[in-house]
Amino acid sequence: MFIAHLPAGYLLSRPFARRHPEQAKAIVGVGLLFSVLPDFDLAYFYLIDQRRSPHHDYWVHMPAFWLLVAAIAAFFLWASGRRRHLILVGVGLISVLAHLVMDSIAADLSWLQPFSDVRVNLVHVPALYKPWYLNFLLHWTFAFELLIMAVAGGLAACDLRAWRVVESGAA
Ligand SMILES: [Zn+2]
Repeated sequence: MFIAHLPAGYLLSRPFARRHPEQAKAIVGVGLLFSVLPDFDLAYFYLIDQRRSPHHDYWVHMPAFWLLVAAIAAFFLWASGRRRHLILVGVGLISVLAHLVMDSIAADLSWLQPFSDVRVNLVHVPALYKPWYLNFLLHWTFAFELLIMAVAGGLAACDLRAWRVVESGAA
């Protein structure tokens, strides 16, 4: 997916933020960050790896890595008595796993690495056009991305309006 990761992070973190208003900013911030974090590997892909291997094969696109990171973070928060912040670990994990699910729609990901080489690709996008990205932009799966963007944009606009009303009432 190209453009729907960030809005999907908003959609996923929003219900948690509404349920925990005292941590709402942190929850939405974590949701947005972790919804795009795996794709930071594109810097390595273009600048260092010189596009030799698909960036979806890097460890930041493997669920096992994020499950391990979440388990370690949760353990330290729990052990240090900061259990109210465990919600941030949960939102981060949900957002990052949603990123991997969305990547698996039109590209293949190794969901069971390092235990198995099985790759998951829900929809095959045929290579019909050049440059390569037109194959994805002109495929029906891109409509799904636009839908996610529209829903997230609509809800964000509503939330912003409600937040401004609250702020102006408090001033
Ligand atoms: Zn990705």
